[in-house]
Amino acid sequence: MSPAGGSGAAAFGAAARHELADALARGAPLRCPECQLALTWQEVRPAEGVPYVRRRIWVMCPGCRRTAALDRPAG
Ligand SMILES: [Zn+2]
Repeated sequence: MSPAGGSGAAAFGAAARHELADALARGAPLRCPECQLALTWQEVRPAEGVPYVRRRIWVMCPGCRRTAALDRPAG
């Protein structure tokens, strides 16, 4: 266990990220594959001048504190 103030934020593994991306593509609620809690999320704004319009969101589980960045499907 890391002490308070440590910067070792855990990330979701590949399987969990795949599951989350799948839920996102279906418009299903995003839940943590580990503890089934509803994930909080926020949009990541692209840097100004970036030509592509693909949007990305950053999700975090309030339970296990795992995070992931997911690409939002267009449209
Ligand atoms: Zn969790």
